[in-house]
Amino acid sequence: KQRALEEIRDLPACTPDGCTVTLLANIGLLSDLKVAHLHGAEGVGLYRTEFPFMTRSSLPSRQVQAAVYRKVLEGFPGLPVNIRTLDIGGDKGLSYFPHPKEDNPFLGWRSMRLSLDREDILREQLAAILLASASGKCTLMFPMISGVDEVRRIKAILAQVKEELTRDGRSFDARIGLGVMVELPAAVLVADMLVKEVDYLSIGTNDLIQYTLACDRNNPRVRKWYDPYHPAVLRSIKKVADAAAGAGKPASLCGEMAGEPINAILLMGLGLRSFSLSAPNIPRVKEAVRRITLKKAREIGDRVLAMESAQSIREYLEATQRELG
Ligand code: PEP
Ligand code: MG
Repeated sequence: KQRALEEIRDLPACTPDGCTVTLLANIGLLSDLKVAHLHGAEGVGLYRTEFPFMTRSSLPSRQVQAAVYRKVLEGFPGLPVNIRTLDIGGDKGLSYFPHPKEDNPFLGWRSMRLSLDREDILREQLAAILLASASGKCTLMFPMISGVDEVRRIKAILAQVKEELTRDGRSFDARIGLGVMVELPAAVLVADMLVKEVDYLSIGTNDLIQYTLACDRNNPRVRKWYDPYHPAVLRSIKKVADAAAGAGKPASLCGEMAGEPINAILLMGLGLRSFSLSAPNIPRVKEAVRRITLKKAREIGDRVLAMESAQSIREYLEATQRELG
């Protein structure tokens, strides 16, 4: 198994008819960097910055944060590293941060909403990411965005933070690429507007499925309603892929969904060319990409988009997987 892993690690994720897919890693802990390399990640598509906040007993300073972010960038020299701002709240709490009790935490004060209300935390984090950006090929991504107003506000804050750093004579990547996560149905519906504000979109299916289907991603009772194959979810993904393509900008997908080879094929068929996934899934997804033509993936995508039920989509994909071997 080790040999098979080593054999595929350095091969490109390219289909027999010449379509190249980028396979990046989702990272939380610094120890994930090694795992990502071992499995042939071509960069980091999602660095979840909650971890340096969760593993400390008070809010980390900009210097402490910058040091951690720098380590992530230095772990992938010359390769893309996409750092996401704090996505706290919902199921992810900080012991030292007083979070109000809410009836619906996933619909509440979470993620970018919290960052925008606690601008002090956001500014420190943006400064830290900018300071680290001088050490690699860094992009900056914002979670739980619902529309362009939020993005414009964040960009205004970012511009101020950049000015401050420039005044202090600090070096950073002044043209750092910006992206938003598309993980709310609202963001799907305005994806064409959002993409004009940023350099790329990244679809977060873990939350997108939850919010599209009004189904808690962590509640086993409603597990059967939490379904990536629901036509509403697949249409949403297609809509985002089309919106990005229409603007000539990349769209990636960083939810767990892309970790299943047949799903990656389907997502290619819907128009996506970049996935960020849990690193141990990269080799099997790569293997599947290297065996399927883009033409076939598109046929699968078109077939699935015409289907009305998640159950029939599942059966069709299972049959297709058996046929592909
Ligand atoms: C997602 O929502 O799909 C995602 C990648 O982010 P997280 O799982 O951290 O919410
Ligand atoms: Mg999410």
